[in-house]
Amino acid sequence: MDLKSLIRDIPDFPKPGILFRDITTLLRDPEGLRYTIDFFTQECINSGLQADYVVGMESRGFIFGPPLAYKLGAGFIPVRKPGKLPAAVHSIEYELEYGTDCLEMHQDALHPDSRVLIVDDLIATGGTANATAKLVQKIGCELVGFGFIIELRDLQGRKHLPDVPIISLIQY
Ligand code: IMP
Repeated sequence: MDLKSLIRDIPDFPKPGILFRDITTLLRDPEGLRYTIDFFTQECINSGLQADYVVGMESRGFIFGPPLAYKLGAGFIPVRKPGKLPAAVHSIEYELEYGTDCLEMHQDALHPDSRVLIVDDLIATGGTANATAKLVQKIGCELVGFGFIIELRDLQGRKHLPDVPIISLIQY
């Protein structure tokens, strides 16, 4: 299936000069959605990724992470923006183009012998995924890999990630 044809390009969103890859048009397509999750699962299996937990980032990691976790027989753990999670959290600050951002994960969500797969809809510069990896590694877990629906190759985000398998289904 031509997944790229289901991604909508929106120029100048959220800022002038940015071409936003919109996955809502893929999500609303029943066959496209099913194919995406099945393909994602198969790519993880083909890469030998065995995870106890899928860790997904707010907010589009929450869309693709849980069905992938379900198919892999893993649990799902949300990584959220500050102040959203109710129990004690680990936090990580990371650099943006202008300023910094922060992500949080429950302290008791993972234990050191957990095998973790980090999932998001898209990798651009890799900053979000790398910050999430640091959160996971803070606990001493085994990071088995990363999975993205879309990879923006020009930005070379994978260069900023730890040396583990990185899956992407669609590349631009
Ligand atoms: P990075 O941290 O620069 O790799 O940016 C990745 C994060 O920004 C992910 O959480 C994406 O959901 C979001 N993002 C950046 N660009 C786009 C886009 O074109 N479409 C959808 N999400 C995007």
